[in-house]
Amino acid sequence: MVKTILLTCIACGGTMRYTTLASGSSGNATYVENKASRILVDAGLSGKKIEKGLCDLGVDPSEIDALVVTHEHTDHVRGVGVLARRYGYKVYATEGTWKGMKKVIGKVEESQICTVKVDEKVAFQDLDMEIFPTPHDACEPIGLTFDDGKSRLGIATDVGYVTRAMGRKLLGCEALIFESNHDRKMLMEGPYPASLKRRVASKEGHLSNEEAGQVLAKLCDGGTKQIMLAHLSAENNHPALALDTVKTILQQQGYSVNKARSQAEQGCLFSSEEEKEKESDLRLSIAPRYEIHPWEEI
Ligand SMILES: [Zn+2]
Ligand SMILES: [Zn+2]
Repeated sequence: MVKTILLTCIACGGTMRYTTLASGSSGNATYVENKASRILVDAGLSGKKIEKGLCDLGVDPSEIDALVVTHEHTDHVRGVGVLARRYGYKVYATEGTWKGMKKVIGKVEESQICTVKVDEKVAFQDLDMEIFPTPHDACEPIGLTFDDGKSRLGIATDVGYVTRAMGRKLLGCEALIFESNHDRKMLMEGPYPASLKRRVASKEGHLSNEEAGQVLAKLCDGGTKQIMLAHLSAENNHPALALDTVKTILQQQGYSVNKARSQAEQGCLFSSEEEKEKESDLRLSIAPRYEIHPWEEI
C-alpha cells in the first residue's frame, strides 16, 4: 500500500522560496523569501562569500530584512558581525546565543540586537517565524519554521535528537531543511578521536542518516512534500549514502520518493480513482556543502 502525500504544483504553487548557500561544518547559510520578506538564517561563511552567494541568487544583500542565528557555533556565525555592521541588519537570536556569540562577532549596535525567546513568534511583513529549542551542545540553540499563511517551511539542523516538542512544530511543514549529518558506521570507524565520536553521536550532537530517515518518515505523515537533507559531515558521510539511507526508510514506510509516474504506471499501481488522486511524489535533495542549492518553492 503506497502512502499518500498531498500533490502541489511546485512550478506554479506558492510564493515562498528558499535555498541554502552552503551547508555543513565549514559553514551554513539559508535564505528564505516571500513577496515582502527576505530572511537570512545563519551566516556561517565569511561576509564576502555570503554577499557573493546572495548576488548569485539575484538577491541584493542590502535588502535583507533580518538575520536569524540558530546558535553560536562558528559554522553558523562566521559572517554575522561583518554583515550586521555593513548592512545594519537586525540580528535575531536567543539570549544564550547572544551571550555565546557576542565576543566572536564583535560590535553590533544595540538597535540591531533582537533577542527572541523559544516558542516565540516573530512576524515579518508577510512571513511568520516561530522558533523552538533544539538539543545541541550550544548555549540556547533553536530550530525554526516560516509560515506565509499557505505553506510552512521547517529548518532543523545541529540536532542531537528530535524531541516531541520539535516534532509537533515540524509536523505539517510542506518543506523541511533537515539534518542528516553522519553515517553511524562511518563515524564509529572513522578518524575522529573517541571523545569527538561520542559528542557527535550524543543527544546533544548531530542526527545520523538513519535517525533522520526515521523522523522524516513520521513527519511525512503530516504532509511534507519537499525535504532538503542538510549539514552533512565531510568525514563521516557521503551525499549519495545520506540520500540512499533516507530514501530507503521512506520507501519502506510506503512513500514514493522523487519518482514521477506515467498515467499508465499509476493505473497499474492504484486500483481506485480515489487512490489515484491522492498519489504524488516526495522531493528529496541534498544541501551542497559549498555550493548554492537550486531554488525551492512552496
Ligand atoms: Zn553546525
Ligand atoms: Zn552546532
